[in-house]
Amino acid sequence: MTKKVVVTRQIKDEHLNQLKEKFEVFMWDSAGDPLPREQFLEEIKDADAAMTMLSEKVDAEMFETAKNLKVVSNLAVGYDNIDLEKAEENDVIITNTPEVLTETTAELAFTLMLTSARRVIEANRELEAGDWTGWSPYHMAGTDVFGKTIGIFGMGSIGAAFARRLKGFDCKIIYHNRSESKYAADLDAELVSFDELLEQSDFVLCAAPLTDETKYKFDKSAFGKMKPEAHFINIGRGAHVVEADLKEAVETGEIAAAALDVFDGEPISKDHPFIGMDNMTLLPHIGSASVATRDNMVQLCVDNITNVLEGKKPLTQVK
Ligand code: NAP
Repeated sequence: MTKKVVVTRQIKDEHLNQLKEKFEVFMWDSAGDPLPREQFLEEIKDADAAMTMLSEKVDAEMFETAKNLKVVSNLAVGYDNIDLEKAEENDVIITNTPEVLTETTAELAFTLMLTSARRVIEANRELEAGDWTGWSPYHMAGTDVFGKTIGIFGMGSIGAAFARRLKGFDCKIIYHNRSESKYAADLDAELVSFDELLEQSDFVLCAAPLTDETKYKFDKSAFGKMKPEAHFINIGRGAHVVEADLKEAVETGEIAAAALDVFDGEPISKDHPFIGMDNMTLLPHIGSASVATRDNMVQLCVDNITNVLEGKKPLTQVK
């Protein structure tokens, strides 16, 4: 019997056709809107494989419904949308897309850091509002990255690619992981405690996975330990941060600014409390969004599904 694959967003024909050649494919025909939950559960009932996005909850209810499922291929390196215990109980292989998105996401993190340091969004808003009255010595004066201490929470692939980009900026690099990073020696980066990271850094980058241990790690107490001139950058996940505490920290000047690609509950609306704040740089979760990288991520998902359904080892199985 032909095996069935569910693809929860529209993908390019060049990728879709590779699946269609071998399998029966249901593809949700929208690139923008997520597949409604009810329809996802209906389609997954008799599916052998699924290509999912962060917007799909791959949870107990889904595994209960999907009796034939052999592999879930998640279009992301993070897999906090997936219940790994239930996957194991149900003998379903989970794959992700590590490494192919590393450089692109590190570039976005770097963009956020420079944008925040040099008040780019605030300056652009002023100009577009017609409020630019002319040059003055401290007009829109920001802060330098050159020579500063950069603290990385989660010195994995992306954290290290970000740190590599600091070559030429003469920065001191410190990081906090649970264990020593294999990248640390090359980067001359020093492992410190979480509190030391907060206390010493001029820029703190969160690039860790979202787990029970890291959820809401950046709270009132954490922001309280940071320097008043520090910038907080998050490309990890929104739920690393207690957003009300971050808002208060930025508003009261406990820290200087924040630059965020991710939010606790996405997408956010224009009523979100962060919207309009001058010292907040906000992006709609575009960390890995270059065309080439998205192509590579989708291709890796296709290859993982094909391998598993053809009885071979997946290329990037989540441990
Ligand atoms: P990775 O190579 O697995 O690196 C993760 C790092 O986090 C490791 O160095 C790990 O070190 C550290 N870590 C894990 N748990 C920790 C904890 N409890 N405390 C401190 N450090 C911890 O992953 P990656 O490819 O760099 O991706 C990292 C995350 O970035 C992803 O999980 C995803 O959430 C996020 N991401 C976001 C975007 C975006 O679009 N914004 C794009 C890609 C990825 P130890 O194991 O030694 O602790």
